[in-house]
Amino acid sequence: MTTPPPGPAGSSRPAGTNLAGLRDHNAALVLGLLRAAPRGGSRVELATRTGLTPQAIGKITARLLAEGMIVEAGQEASTGGKPRTLLRLRAEAACAVGVHLERDELTVLLVDLAGRHRYLHTQPVDRAVTPAEAVRLITAQIGRATAGLPAGARLLGAGVGCRGPLDHAAGVLHWFTPPGARDLAGWDRYPLRDELAARLDGLPVVVDKDTNTAALAEAPAVPRPGGGLAYIHLAAGLGAGLLLDGALHRGTRTNAGEFGHQTVQIDGPPCDCGNHGCLEVLCLAELRRGDHAAAARLVGVGVANLVRLLDIDRVVLGGRAVLSAPDVYLAGVTAQIEARIPDPDWQPVPVSVSSAGRLAVAAGAAELVLGPLFRRRT
Ligand SMILES: [Zn+2]
Repeated sequence: MTTPPPGPAGSSRPAGTNLAGLRDHNAALVLGLLRAAPRGGSRVELATRTGLTPQAIGKITARLLAEGMIVEAGQEASTGGKPRTLLRLRAEAACAVGVHLERDELTVLLVDLAGRHRYLHTQPVDRAVTPAEAVRLITAQIGRATAGLPAGARLLGAGVGCRGPLDHAAGVLHWFTPPGARDLAGWDRYPLRDELAARLDGLPVVVDKDTNTAALAEAPAVPRPGGGLAYIHLAAGLGAGLLLDGALHRGTRTNAGEFGHQTVQIDGPPCDCGNHGCLEVLCLAELRRGDHAAAARLVGVGVANLVRLLDIDRVVLGGRAVLSAPDVYLAGVTAQIEARIPDPDWQPVPVSVSSAGRLAVAAGAAELVLGPLFRRRT
């Protein structure tokens, strides 16, 4: 995961460095600022906001112009001094593919540098699909997506968001198969990243949990130092993606964010994970009854726990269940936070519904590939 360095104390400004050997780090800062400013920015503005010298900004922007990553885009309105040339990100210079692999649906999205969607395809998938067949379907759709790449555009890679558990670093799935669940046969320990890369002629592939990629889709272009964002996903399961201090928090084994498996009812009903009284099993029972208000109340209790544990200061709700009744979840979760946080006026936690909606996982999967261009690699 990538993140910009913390800015100067008390500032949200990303701090650049003028040390030699960190050109990519500084170029990422410049590209990140231009990505967040669709109208563009002047070299003087970039120097001010990164803390880099005008000379360093001159060298970086000259290189990015030569590489076709940015373009000159007219002049800034004069405020009395010499007019300043605006620089803008060249969105069509490169693209990435975002894939959302669900048990019953496949979505493939082509995204350019500015985050614009240039190709979108969603198709149903048989729940008993084999890993090899899924890889074939994904490969075929990526082929169609990239056939429409703008002339000269580079394809940087493909990101895949799917349910966990999985090992992000190794790109291997750990889909435990309960006895008798034949439709999951072959998925446990499946090396999805390497199998896809082999079919895509070595294209870089990144695999991550759907909750993590969806959280990335909600990340600001220039993350706030110290910010804590929780993306809560309620669909066939309940999970969370955590963006802490601007970076995804995956944990050592990509097992962070198992929000649905916090025990909230000791000796409660059994959960698929082997535990009892998990938040997820209680929530899914309410969904089966069609009671979204009760499910929202339970999600809200879990979110309040999370806020108190990690000082989360922004909550985004997503997933099929939430999107089917967004107002109910907004109200239910907000009410629980306000009831359970000791001083909500001092510790406000705004709650919103995912702006990317059904495409959050796929858009964030593309961001797995695009993000490192714009932020410092950590
Ligand atoms: Zn559980």
